[in-house]
Amino acid sequence: MEVPSREVDRPFHYLVPEHLNLLSLGSRVLVPFGRRTVPGYVVGFSAPPEGVKIKPVLKILSEGLSPELLELAQWLAGRYLCTLAESLHCVIGAGREKKRLPQRLFAAVEAGEINGLKITPKQQKVLETAVQHPGLNKTQLARKAGVSPSTVDTIVKKKLLTYGYGINTPSSTTADNLPQLTAEQLAVVNRLNNYINHGKHGVFLLHGVTGSGKTEVYLRVIAEVLKKGRQAVVLLPEISLTSQMVEVFCRRFGSSVAVLHSRLSAGERYAEQQRIQRGDAQVVLGARSAVFAPVPKLGIIIIDEEHEPMYKQEENPKYHAREVAVYRARVNQAVVLMASATPALESYCRAEPGGPYQLLTMKKRVRQLPLPKVEVVDMRREMDAGNTGIFSRLLLDKITDRLNKKQQVVLFINRRGYATFVVCRKCGLVLKCPHCDISLTYHYDGYLRCHYCNYSRHAPKKCPRCGDNAVGFFGTGTQKVEQEIKRYFPRAVIMRMDGDTTARKGSHQKIIDAFKNGHGDILVGTQMIAKGLDMPNVTLVGVVNADTMLYMPEFRAAERTFQLLTQVAGRAGRGDYPGETVIQTHTPEHYSIIYARKHDYKNFYQKEMQMRRALKYPPFYYLSRILISGENEERVKAAAEEIRGVLEDTASAVKTEDKKVIIMGPAQAGLYKIQGRFRWQMVLKGRVASIVRQVTRDAVQKWAQQARGRNNINVSIDIDPQFLF
Ligand SMILES: [Zn+2]
Ligand SMILES: [Zn+2]
Repeated sequence: MEVPSREVDRPFHYLVPEHLNLLSLGSRVLVPFGRRTVPGYVVGFSAPPEGVKIKPVLKILSEGLSPELLELAQWLAGRYLCTLAESLHCVIGAGREKKRLPQRLFAAVEAGEINGLKITPKQQKVLETAVQHPGLNKTQLARKAGVSPSTVDTIVKKKLLTYGYGINTPSSTTADNLPQLTAEQLAVVNRLNNYINHGKHGVFLLHGVTGSGKTEVYLRVIAEVLKKGRQAVVLLPEISLTSQMVEVFCRRFGSSVAVLHSRLSAGERYAEQQRIQRGDAQVVLGARSAVFAPVPKLGIIIIDEEHEPMYKQEENPKYHAREVAVYRARVNQAVVLMASATPALESYCRAEPGGPYQLLTMKKRVRQLPLPKVEVVDMRREMDAGNTGIFSRLLLDKITDRLNKKQQVVLFINRRGYATFVVCRKCGLVLKCPHCDISLTYHYDGYLRCHYCNYSRHAPKKCPRCGDNAVGFFGTGTQKVEQEIKRYFPRAVIMRMDGDTTARKGSHQKIIDAFKNGHGDILVGTQMIAKGLDMPNVTLVGVVNADTMLYMPEFRAAERTFQLLTQVAGRAGRGDYPGETVIQTHTPEHYSIIYARKHDYKNFYQKEMQMRRALKYPPFYYLSRILISGENEERVKAAAEEIRGVLEDTASAVKTEDKKVIIMGPAQAGLYKIQGRFRWQMVLKGRVASIVRQVTRDAVQKWAQQARGRNNINVSIDIDPQFLF
């Protein structure tokens, strides 16, 4: 048998001792390696080469993988250029679980059965309470029943109470009381069911405006998948896993729901995986990594909010869940349904006529709700009028109005400014790279740099367009906004949600719950508050500075701005009050703001595609990024130059003109120094994905062989990078 280690990406032979004869492919095992003991994965069984002395496997750490998932791991390693060990580690999903979810208790018996059971009156009381109030945790249940927690333990031991996510009755929504589908929903469900019923593979993109009832579509097609005896995997952005979304699924599918969550303990995760593998759990909900859920009979993979960048993993293997889902579904003759109000350009482009995906559309909101009103404030006019603060008069007026009406306000800002760019507050000019059309990043040495191609220039004192000296550096953080708003509204209760206040896992949910329950008047937060939150009392959403996102030095900046503004606007007005959104910007004429205001995806898409084509960015070109980092600044730079040389050699082997690979950089990464390590990057682009991948892999391998012995330089590869920072 052969076991690769994480350090050395090739198989090694080991002896399988008699007592470990249950060992199977994909098992994680402990083996002696040199003088150490290391974990590895079983990738095959064969006789060892002649004359090689082999050592025995010491211990089995986890069970094997199905042939399907083992094959998937192999594909993943080739697709994203990582080691097979890294890829197996990811597919198996071991060792990344940290914290326990609060465990919820459910009665394992029907209400009627309780009377006939031989238990003490106290235990009886606990059981009755659990039936009446399913889903409490141990302390809550004990308190409610007026007993000690140890009494609860006793009943759990007797198996009359179980821990889980589901609700008591298997399905409380019967066919009679399902909500009526709109004509659009019905058409979408019918098209999907046609594939599901015939066991046909198909990839669908559902473009549905916010509030068009996508979740109900998911629920209906999953019901169809289950009828066919197959299983469903639903991927959600991490934050939705703590929201009502999970409850909605549990209410419909009861105990057949399994939730894979980053906060599960290793034991809990293992138990869920077992339920999935046995087929006891037929509907799997989870974040990105749930795309590897070990379902034996995959019927459908649903990707909610498919445009979310968090579906791409940032460490090895740097996979995109969308790509993995499509691959898995093809192998299993299953359906992929990705959905969003603002699809990623890549996805929408593939769903054009003749493309590999099929487009489904839902243009109307359910219950005829109007799309929320969006107002754009030109901050240059505010400056002309003598208002140099970060809030416009319009936004301040509207906040005052809502506070008087006891309604709630959400103020949205971009994630803490890790990039500083230069904008003229008079005319709105933002300095960009003449070659790459991305914003130049301000460095402390007084230079502005492009971190794609390394173009640089002095930061100007005066605006090169209008000559005014109102040139400012941008990067307003949450704290500053919070302070300012306190100054204007000293009596309002202000809550803040960003990376700082939510560093402790689970705390963001606490903030959201508290705000929802009316404990705050104004919520200030980053991207996090934009998704998946239904807050009926929020009637005003303010985007404090759309420019901090729009001028992020990334080629996807306009797309992300459009997506975010549309999603943020979609949050307002879900309840009984009509919602309103105010967007503040220095460049209201930018197309991403114009189309977001009109909720017009189609025109945004067309305009943005023109830009991408002209500048040779995805989806017209495929990218890879090589990031070189190390503690010695000079050596990192030298290594980057060397790799550039090898890349040029390798790329020159491609003779066909339209298949040629373009090399950008080396340039300092946008985040140039992280934890004492300097970072340089190169970006490759080309029309043919496999050629970009091949040139990247061959060049990095060739360089690694040459550079043997000169270590302390880390080279990391990202295929189809989401961020080039
Ligand atoms: Zn200017
Ligand atoms: Zn450039």
